[in-house]
Amino acid sequence: MAKIQVLSKSVADKIAAGEVAERPSAVVKELVENAIDAGASKIDVEIKQGGISYIRITDNGCGIPQDQVETAFLRHATSKLSEIEDLYRIGTMGFRGEALASICAVSQVELITKTADGDEGVYLRLLHGEVVEKTPMACAEGTTMVVKDLFANVPARMKFLKKDSTEAGYVADLVSRIALSRPDIAFSYTCDGKEVFSTSGDGKLKNVILQIYGLDHAKALLPVDYAEDGVHISGVVGKPELARGNRTRQTLFVNGRFVKNHVLSKVAEEAFRNRMMVGKFPFFVISITLPTELVDVNVHPAKTEVKFANEKQIYDVAYHAIRNALFTQEKAEAPKVPVPPVSAAPAPKREYVNPKLVKEYLAYTIPEEKKNVSYVREDTPKAPEVILEELLEETGQKETHIIIEETPPKQEVMEEMVPVISQKKKPEIVGQVFDTYIICKTEEEMFLIDQHAAHERMRFETLKEEYFNQKKCAQLLLSPLVLNLDFREKQSVMENLTDFVRLGFEIEDFGGNAVIVQGAPIAADEAELRDLILELSDAMQEKRKHPVADFEEKALDMIACKGAIKANKRLSYPEMQDLLEKVLDMEEKGVGSCPHGRPIRIGFTKTEIEKLFKRIV
Ligand code: ADP
Ligand code: MG
Repeated sequence: MAKIQVLSKSVADKIAAGEVAERPSAVVKELVENAIDAGASKIDVEIKQGGISYIRITDNGCGIPQDQVETAFLRHATSKLSEIEDLYRIGTMGFRGEALASICAVSQVELITKTADGDEGVYLRLLHGEVVEKTPMACAEGTTMVVKDLFANVPARMKFLKKDSTEAGYVADLVSRIALSRPDIAFSYTCDGKEVFSTSGDGKLKNVILQIYGLDHAKALLPVDYAEDGVHISGVVGKPELARGNRTRQTLFVNGRFVKNHVLSKVAEEAFRNRMMVGKFPFFVISITLPTELVDVNVHPAKTEVKFANEKQIYDVAYHAIRNALFTQEKAEAPKVPVPPVSAAPAPKREYVNPKLVKEYLAYTIPEEKKNVSYVREDTPKAPEVILEELLEETGQKETHIIIEETPPKQEVMEEMVPVISQKKKPEIVGQVFDTYIICKTEEEMFLIDQHAAHERMRFETLKEEYFNQKKCAQLLLSPLVLNLDFREKQSVMENLTDFVRLGFEIEDFGGNAVIVQGAPIAADEAELRDLILELSDAMQEKRKHPVADFEEKALDMIACKGAIKANKRLSYPEMQDLLEKVLDMEEKGVGSCPHGRPIRIGFTKTEIEKLFKRIV
């Protein structure tokens, strides 16, 4: 075995650097945290080429005294901790005193800094850990750190870096998260000479979200503010419509620090249960504040994993905080239909007005002379609210208590159901159950069709045919749709434009973080277009990481699924008839399950049923 040796300072520094400064975003994180600790109210971050060639952080914080600038770069040099006990009470971002030492070991660093009471500032330049220049310099109060040519002296580590745009993405992600954690600090982020976003520092989280995620997000936020047993949960959750197919839009801070905690994401998702579709994840920016002794953030060198002393308690409080936010909003947004004072329980659903009951009720409460008014016009179908309003107006009542029936009259659908096909072999529709399955029968069998699976498959087949036969599958939208995205979404859509075009979309840059959609594949539902485009762009990003052979089919499937008839939707007879015809058509062509592999129909033959009822053996 080789002789045991003490590592040289340069080797030891490089190893340590690998832990603290493993990539440009980690360097930016350390430098921005230092700026925050220095009390800055304005922090500018600039990078070039993913931060590999250039990183600059400028703050207006307290600055470093001239005679201490070299000390700051020594390992274990910190102004934030001197006793080991401090470790447990630390309220600042950094405290291990190794960030600057590590960063300067693997790059060229320039520091310009001035304190409030210093007469002049100082310029210091270090190359791979050694001071090479130090001169007085006139400058504003605060600190500028420039890090150049990261890892130029550690080629092995250099190889681990991803391409510039990916590294820049990490930096953007990090800076935006820090900006979200401190709405009171004005941040700006510039990449390759272009300002990507800037926040005002006015202390309002909503304004930071507006800058980072765009208007759609800023408009759909629910405030969270809840405290219990010394644990305070604050921030915002997005209304269910902001939910996405991955968790990249979930931001959690513990005592001001951005952390990842998988269980907490789950807690938030649990709180949203039944409010959004399976596979969707809520948007949130949530901050947990609790006594520092109860949290150990230093378990991971990059300090993004967090552990709580009493996990269950924290999760319970977080769950209630989010539930509260959701309920408060739902209560506020519920339509204000007056409910009868006596028969208020069980709480009526505001879905369907039973005209007969309304009539009866009004007949009971309106003045005698107005009783000859015809209340319900059966000839033209009207929305329940309209009927109600008209009734109230006609009868001269400003406000009344209307009984609203929970379920629509069942027979309505049944009455329409005059079987049209009566040829022997062709299946007939019997009805619809659970608003999801169509019941059909022939002379020999009965079967159920899953309406969503069937429609999705049908759309998928049409799209696939158009796509692979290069038929025109784009269709101009009647009114072009402007999508306000956030900068990452925009970037991702623009990077994948050719894929979008091939799938039949016509999308163009619309300035700022917006794109304009002029055309979409024939089958794409306009109302769901935004969701669809974002889902596709997520999938395209994913595809870059893990190339998949059948990506086209997956994408077509997503388009097919988006506009397809949903489960839990009552269908009219002609709609069911139409779907049945198409299912039969598809079956003739040998297509028998939805693109996810779920069956489209299941059934029993007459004989099978007879056996089940033990009529025959
Ligand atoms: P730590 O942050 O853990 O103390 P660092 O290596 O990150 O260690 O920084 C060392 C010291 O340099 C800090 O304790 C602080 O005193 C000083 N320092 C670093 N950056 C700044 C800054 N932007 N403004 C003022 N002081 C700074
Ligand atoms: Mg630090």
